[in-house]
Amino acid sequence: MKMKAAVFEKPGVISIKEVPIPEINDDEVLIRVKYTGICGTDWSIYTGAYSADKLPMIAGHEFSGVIAKVGKNAEGLKEGDRVTADINMSCGVCFYCRRGQKLMCRSFTQLGIHIDGSYAEYVKAPWDQVHLLPDNLDFETGAFIEPVSCVIHSSKAMNVKIGSSVAVIGCGLGILHSVLAMLRGAAPVIIIGDNEKRLNIAKEMGVDYIININETKDVISAVKDITCGRGADYVIEAVGTPKTYEQAFEMVRPGGTVAAFGICPPDAEIRIKPYDLVLGEKNVAGSCAGVGVDWLDAIALLAHGRIAARKMFSMAVPLEDLEWALKELKSDPNLIKVFASPELKERKVY
Ligand SMILES: [Zn+2]
Ligand SMILES: [Zn+2]
Repeated sequence: MKMKAAVFEKPGVISIKEVPIPEINDDEVLIRVKYTGICGTDWSIYTGAYSADKLPMIAGHEFSGVIAKVGKNAEGLKEGDRVTADINMSCGVCFYCRRGQKLMCRSFTQLGIHIDGSYAEYVKAPWDQVHLLPDNLDFETGAFIEPVSCVIHSSKAMNVKIGSSVAVIGCGLGILHSVLAMLRGAAPVIIIGDNEKRLNIAKEMGVDYIININETKDVISAVKDITCGRGADYVIEAVGTPKTYEQAFEMVRPGGTVAAFGICPPDAEIRIKPYDLVLGEKNVAGSCAGVGVDWLDAIALLAHGRIAARKMFSMAVPLEDLEWALKELKSDPNLIKVFASPELKERKVY
């Protein structure tokens, strides 16, 4: 049996072609894919900056779908169930796994990043990684659970206290970070970005202050002005450039915490004064993905309307247009979340 898939053949080449439908073992389920959210990581795989040694591969790791087949050992799941799946797989027995830090596992594997994912008609996943979608979550929002889980993981690592000031650098997933900070009782919440449309969406979602770097040259002073001259209690870096990381350490107050979320190239370096870390008692909270219970928490927040996710949805395209959409996302900063679907015949704008 064959299916349509977008195969990332080698850097710069995606081909839409017929490939075998994945065969499942007793511990897996086969999912008929509805939507896959297109992510910056997909761009990095496309350009060869990430996972180049894993190609050819079907990418796609933010997905929703319907169970088409269940393995013998899959408990509580049946054909027709609406689902998504935690993409993070680990050995379960190493030093890190035994301490509940499976993201650090030496054999850490992510579906759609290291092994075949969901830019296809079908994807398989271990049954115990599968999460049922509540009835009121549409499939696009189901495909948005993964990025929300990542932001929740970061939010937990940072552990914002009620009444604290939070500055978020970046207005992509930065918008979600801002919403999470508000949900934790932070005040004020400040978002810093370069795109009017995205910043306005953040404002609509309740962020207190937006700082557009095209209009405000000195963002450090701008954040200090809002926080009684001290700097923010927490700063979240959600861009992934050395410059914005350096800004994060400058705009966090003494005793405050910087959350490292944006991904820089592996060899990028930043300049920080150790003096400021010691005398200023500044902290760093790193986090790289949403895992385990973060997925349940993401589902709970989305199902109960705590995150107006649909405001961030821009467009959905047929799977055949994936390569076009990847490029479009790079060139049009007004696009936020774009989905690809093997079932769509034409583009759909939200
Ligand atoms: Zn992603
Ligand atoms: Zn392990």
